[in-house]
Amino acid sequence: MARYAMKFGGTSVGSPEAIAQVVEIIRRFIAEGHELAVIVSAMSGVTDMLLDCAAAAANGDRESFLAISDVLRAKHTGVIDALIAGEDDRSVIGGEVDELVGSCLELCEAITILGEVTPRISDALASFGERLSSRVIAAVLRAQATSVTQLDSDAYIITDNQYGDADPIWPETEARIVGGLGAALGAGVTPIITGFFGATPDGAITTLGRGGSDFAAAIFAAYLDCDELIIWTDVDGVMTTDPRLDERARVLPYVSYQEIGELAFYGAKVLHPKTVQPIINRGIPLRVRNTFNPDHSGTSVGARTQPSATVIKAITGIRDVSMLTVSGRGMLGVPGIAGRTFLASAGAGANILMISQSSSEQSFCFTVIDPMARAVKQAVEAELQREIQHRHVDSVDLLSDIVIITVVGSGMRGTPGVAGRVFSLLGEHRINVLAIAQGSSECSISFIVAESDLERAVRELHNLALETVENDRITAVGSPY
Ligand code: ASP
Ligand code: MG
Repeated sequence: MARYAMKFGGTSVGSPEAIAQVVEIIRRFIAEGHELAVIVSAMSGVTDMLLDCAAAAANGDRESFLAISDVLRAKHTGVIDALIAGEDDRSVIGGEVDELVGSCLELCEAITILGEVTPRISDALASFGERLSSRVIAAVLRAQATSVTQLDSDAYIITDNQYGDADPIWPETEARIVGGLGAALGAGVTPIITGFFGATPDGAITTLGRGGSDFAAAIFAAYLDCDELIIWTDVDGVMTTDPRLDERARVLPYVSYQEIGELAFYGAKVLHPKTVQPIINRGIPLRVRNTFNPDHSGTSVGARTQPSATVIKAITGIRDVSMLTVSGRGMLGVPGIAGRTFLASAGAGANILMISQSSSEQSFCFTVIDPMARAVKQAVEAELQREIQHRHVDSVDLLSDIVIITVVGSGMRGTPGVAGRVFSLLGEHRINVLAIAQGSSECSISFIVAESDLERAVRELHNLALETVENDRITAVGSPY
């Protein structure tokens, strides 16, 4: 018997067929004698719909948000009609769905009156996707005589007031989860909990960022002291690269916490980047599995850093980024220019994805997402106005048709020549590298190439990762995969 936290993502709960599959998985684990805490996402597309409602409401477009709310209601009643047979059961949960959709409409009316969507009200509205899905799934399980209790996560995950991207206040969250849930779990009742959101200490709803149900699930896994966190999704596991870039992509049997962190940060859409934070110190293993192929063992994620015979595990590419270069011969020895540049970028609201400086100190460059690029350029130019006037800085240049490619593998640490191998491979194929950065964790190398080179570069480097999978498969015989 083991204790699991398991999270089902949007596509895993996106249709009656998918939910039937989820119910099957949950029932199987319970039948095997395990204890479960189940964390669910909103049905796929629902969070976007709610945010569309908010935008329509801010424009006073009542017709649109009413139309979207009809779709929202129909999506959930469709599940109820397909999966719950009893008239009475159906009408109870149907009533709850109506009530929740009604609350959404009230929030929309409030937004219309305000004429704007504040981050706070946006989070409150966005939380309804998980409120709806968790109740519907709990009702389906209950109708099949499975003992469950539906719970809203704002009672457990207590956060700061960074709406849209809140961070937990850890001690308070720990106290709520341990105190409120720890005992219940042992009593044979399976909690079906909303992912994605928490609340400030005074009760205002906050979301943990898009895709934040993974993070929520990891928080529950940590404080419920689970033996494993399972992230159920719609692919077999973490892949060597995006199959849309290279159809030879394969599932990795094992990656380390660190590697998955880098992968999540650099564009592999498998996990929310903060997911490993709560579980890493507790050594709780994580497994990514496919709801629609539950017999596949998925990808396991743990603390061992060097299970590979070779070193490169996976390649990711991030599109829609821009590179800014600050250059000038007069920068040599003028302290603080880089610091002020990054502060100005942060002031413009931009998250910096990658930084690189040439050793001559005559230029440095950094990368932000496309929609922020113009604002960042303006902010940096304003900040460095004096230096530009005095010709210490020649220019702040913006290059948009670029991508960041990241090569991930913790075996790189202490393995000389990996970077050399990567870059000579690119050189052989005449792919020009515009900038390079190695993460301090030494478990990834990122570099920038022209967007038109993305596919070619990924395919070439992917050959190295495919070698790793092959070697791992051979060395894995008899090892704990
Ligand atoms: N429903 C939320 C989103 O779409 C959170 C999640 O699914 O992880 O971002
Ligand atoms: Mg997700």
